[in-house]
Amino acid sequence: MAVVGIDLGNLSSKIGVARYRGVDIIANEVSNRATPSLVGFGPKQRYLGETAKSQETSNFKNTIGSLKRLLGRTIADPEITEVEKKFLNASLVDVSGTVGVKVNYLGEPATFTATQLVAMYLGKLRDTASKELKQTVSDVVIAVPGWYTDVQRRAMVDAARIADLNPLRIINDTTAIALGYGITKSDLPEPDQTPRHIVFVDVGHSNLSVAVVAFSKGQLVVKSTAYDRHLGGRDLDYALIQHFAVEFKQKYKIDVLSSPKALFRLSTQIERLKKMLSANAEAPLNVESIMNDVDASSKLTRDQLENLIKPLLDRIPSVIAQAVQDSGLTVDQVDAVELVGGTIRVPSIRQCIQSVFPGKALSTTLNGDEAVARGATFACAMLSPVFRVREFAFHDITSYSITVGWDKAQDPTGEDEEPSLEVFPVKNSIPSTKLLSFQRSQPFDLQAYYTHPNTLPGKLNAFISEVHVKSVPTTTNNEPVTVKVKTRLNPNGLLSFEGVYVEEELHDKEEQTAMEVDGAPANGDANAEPAPKKKKKIIKKELPFVTGSTSLDKSILDNYTEKEAGMHASDKLVMETEDRKNALEEYVYDMRSKLDDRYAAYVQPQEKDQLLAALQTAEDWLYSEEGEDATKSAYTTRLDALHVLGDPITTRWRETEDRPKATSQLRESI
Ligand code: ATP
Ligand code: MG
Repeated sequence: MAVVGIDLGNLSSKIGVARYRGVDIIANEVSNRATPSLVGFGPKQRYLGETAKSQETSNFKNTIGSLKRLLGRTIADPEITEVEKKFLNASLVDVSGTVGVKVNYLGEPATFTATQLVAMYLGKLRDTASKELKQTVSDVVIAVPGWYTDVQRRAMVDAARIADLNPLRIINDTTAIALGYGITKSDLPEPDQTPRHIVFVDVGHSNLSVAVVAFSKGQLVVKSTAYDRHLGGRDLDYALIQHFAVEFKQKYKIDVLSSPKALFRLSTQIERLKKMLSANAEAPLNVESIMNDVDASSKLTRDQLENLIKPLLDRIPSVIAQAVQDSGLTVDQVDAVELVGGTIRVPSIRQCIQSVFPGKALSTTLNGDEAVARGATFACAMLSPVFRVREFAFHDITSYSITVGWDKAQDPTGEDEEPSLEVFPVKNSIPSTKLLSFQRSQPFDLQAYYTHPNTLPGKLNAFISEVHVKSVPTTTNNEPVTVKVKTRLNPNGLLSFEGVYVEEELHDKEEQTAMEVDGAPANGDANAEPAPKKKKKIIKKELPFVTGSTSLDKSILDNYTEKEAGMHASDKLVMETEDRKNALEEYVYDMRSKLDDRYAAYVQPQEKDQLLAALQTAEDWLYSEEGEDATKSAYTTRLDALHVLGDPITTRWRETEDRPKATSQLRESI
């Protein structure tokens, strides 16, 4: 069973696999350890990862990035309409209440939801891992930003399922980094000593994440986190685009902002320029035929870059300082600051981080590009039975407070002043379970939602999940009974209603079958710790209930899964067809040249004429309209027919070739 961890980056993704000697980050089909997070659509197939990148210039309207930013969103979300649109060329549309894209696929317009796009891409990463490991990949741990809400996490789980993966856990990016850090350290403080406090700062392509983590032997505890969801390499690029757009308007009288294609060309070169400025004081910018046949060129100094991105730089220190403050530590109590993410290479970004920790050296002991994927893989190895991994507990926290609310009319006691209760406050540890108690005499409903919708990214729905309790036991005098509802913030950071029951005291003769249950909190008081242990012989009577959440309904999930499998099979066929076509073409050229050379002494003139004629026919057909775009079996049949003529010749040659070897081997053995 394969053990795989995925860092789904906004720009590129990394795949980790567990092996007996440790975790490896694997290379894709073109030997890159990072795969572009892009999905593209073409007239015959989809392009996923590297192929989407290589097609991007010519197919930019049908190529979609920002996958993790689209997931779980609606089309009306200002973070989609005002932010993501800046970075996308495909048309965004509403598909059943979620954001999707409209593209041209197989020569026709087609729409896909963001969840489907992520599923397509995860499928590609699955294939890459599966090829490397030479086995089926199912179990995965996928890393997501810590600011992801319930709806985004559920969408990631759905996407993984559509890709036929089994997501063992959705882990927060910075928690994955911390896990990768902690699990390899053998010198962590003993549990009774002061923990080692590390601040992790990840500046990637689209966001900045900070986590303060306490490490002791065998465990880590996330103390606090802070984010700027709109501060990453792409925001630096965007600032540079605005600068050069103004410059080129004056210099070349062109408006690059009016042409998506020109913008696309410019941003590709701008990323190069930005990277050069991380190592050089000055760098050139050249964009061939940017638009209207203009070859644009310019240059930038590092100082100019810093000036242009100053508004972004100014935002960094406060995010980090906030995280440190929320952890309850002082800057002096921080033992180390570990930097990860591609944008950390920008010197002025480092200076801004440094300004929060005067006199403290910033460390880059982790592989900043691969730390998230490594950590996710360790998490997968810990959850999978295949490997025996060092025990290392990780305690995460929730970024948002969660409340459970109910309809006041459903409370027969009329005692509820506030028909809601904050069940998991912000920074509540994950996982966590809480029991809620209600006085009810009729079926009732509860809803879980984020307490402060305005703290959520964009206009994400505050709704999390709901439960409908179908029946409540009646008492003789119609008094309400105490119904207990078990809520759980599960390891994926999702809230679920896990059980509903009433407790009944036992009569003596029933005692034998009783379950022992600890005394539970009183009515509605979810915050209370379980009451002091007063053991009573009581039985739990489960009540029937149904739950609802934003996860896809099974029928939709099945439908998407089937469609995905169909598209995957069709892509595979296109690739195999291409492969057979290439094989036929290669055989024609290879055989033709070898007939005059290597095989010349092994072929009869008549045989040669016959084969040459067949090769010519095959070549003519390959370049005919029919042969240009034929089926896999048409190419295979033609190649097989050529082999019938050619194989006797190659066999004769091989036999003679092998003979001296055989003789010398014989000699050696005598
Ligand atoms: P995210 O974490 O936001 O989802 P990601 O994980 O894909 O995105 P990373 O791989 O950490 O992002 O970083 C990619 C970013 O780092 C890009 O914007 C890229 O231009 C930038 N980057 C990479 N190398 C350098 C460099 N040498 N100098 C400046 N920026 C760089
Ligand atoms: Mg990242």
